[in-house]
Amino acid sequence: MSILRIGLGHDLHQLVEGRRFLLAGIVLPSEKGELGHSDGDVLAHAVMDALLGAAALGDIGELFPPSDPTWKDADSMGLLRSAFSLVTAKGWRLVNLDCIVVCETPKVLPHRETIRASLAAALSVGMEAVFVKGKTNERMDSTGAGLAVEATAVCLLERVEH
Ligand code: MG
Repeated sequence: MSILRIGLGHDLHQLVEGRRFLLAGIVLPSEKGELGHSDGDVLAHAVMDALLGAAALGDIGELFPPSDPTWKDADSMGLLRSAFSLVTAKGWRLVNLDCIVVCETPKVLPHRETIRASLAAALSVGMEAVFVKGKTNERMDSTGAGLAVEATAVCLLERVEH
């Protein structure tokens, strides 16, 4: 018997000068980047919460609390790999992952395939199981004003039980 579970993750980071703009470990050319205790990789964080949520294994704030100096400037793709290892240790396999990144600039589309490849490699799936879309907020609200970047991720996990 196969058990399926959906997971949902969302994150937002403020954009400031002097930081890298990271999406799933890929640096996009930008005058501003994500502020954060870790490296601020908003997409890695949303994906991590989707995976952990589907497996009911907690969330990023519990696993890697920002109050803990261990995670200062942490490589979020490393955190994603270690969170995913908790998920796979419980017998779950990733069926697919779909993501939305919302920011006014930079454009996500020119980097989409690189970002998909980075996530697929970290999660041990083919690129066809991972998709990423870039959107803007039509200059509305703080994200639309270029003050923040947001990411949402949804995933499907499968576990086969005998
Ligand atoms: Mg975050």
